[in-house]
Amino acid sequence: MIPVVALVGRPNVGKSTLFNRLTRSRDALVADFPGLTRDRKYGEVKHGKHRFIAIDTGGITGDEEGIDSAMAGQSLAAIDEADAVLFLLDARAGLTPSDHALATKFRSSNKPFYYVVNKVDGVDPNTAMAEFYELGVEQFYPITATHGRGVRHLLDELVATF
Ligand code: GDP
Ligand code: MG
Repeated sequence: MIPVVALVGRPNVGKSTLFNRLTRSRDALVADFPGLTRDRKYGEVKHGKHRFIAIDTGGITGDEEGIDSAMAGQSLAAIDEADAVLFLLDARAGLTPSDHALATKFRSSNKPFYYVVNKVDGVDPNTAMAEFYELGVEQFYPITATHGRGVRHLLDELVATF
């Protein structure tokens, strides 16, 4: 089976920007991949000789109520479908209470999570990364989804586990 990778994180961290870069608009035909539902956005990613399906999701903040809980449900369902998860954080916004809540929620998952710090363009990398270490995570992947910086390294590490 082709591996599936979910992109999750707060609204506005750059999930769709990364998704579009990874898939370059190659929409996955969901019908070809049993087990995936139609109500999320899937795209096919090619990296070297590897292929996988990426799932773009709406935002999740970790403390949803009302209409937000449906979006959060989508994110959680995408995580269920996935073999690995890219958890996006925003270097410009810095570490937020939502990020803390999500990291806590995700810690109980047995799936591999990749902590991706997006929007490192125009910020001092050392200062930008320092506060994220509060999350107690060993490894972060700094990227710029808009320009692609760091994305190849992230993909190299990701596909190496498939
Ligand atoms: P989503 O809500 O997580 O899907 O976020 P979007 O992909 O829609 O991006 C939200 C905003 O962040 C948009 O205005 C993007 O252009 C911007 N953005 C995304 N990636 C980057 C980045 O690497 N650097 C900067 N400076 N802005 C970015
Ligand atoms: Mg989006």
